Amino acid sequence: MRMQKKEIRCLIKYENVAQGIYNYKVFLPLKSGWSNNSLVTCTNCGELFVIDWENPETENLSVKQIAGSTLCPTCNVVLSMYLADYPATIRISENQFGSFNDKAVFNQEEESEIVDFYELRPSQKGLN
Ligand SMILES: [Zn+2]
Repeated sequence: MRMQKKEIRCLIKYENVAQGIYNYKVFLPLKSGWSNNSLVTCTNCGELFVIDWENPETENLSVKQIAGSTLCPTCNVVLSMYLADYPATIRISENQFGSFNDKAVFNQEEESEIVDFYELRPSQKGLN
């Protein structure tokens, strides 16, 4: 089953995410009103995925449970074994990972834009 994309509003920041890595583009989902989206990354290829925690399907599930047996649409690994929270983990290249702490970032609606990411949802029984 082809993974669907979901558009979410993100704050875009250019940050120092690792030693010697500056102005690296970081996506921070805005949390406002009813939206509660978080991003996770495939540590094998760097693909980003959005998880919608307001979706009843994701209630009480861990990220690994949501991923289940889903394969990464970009590099084809079993995602549950290669997922990390983003931007706490940012895959910069094959041998380099960075990190950004988004806790201190304020919601600034005016600097945000709509970005589409693959949406990670629990796979339905009988599929995959
Ligand atoms: Zn991947």
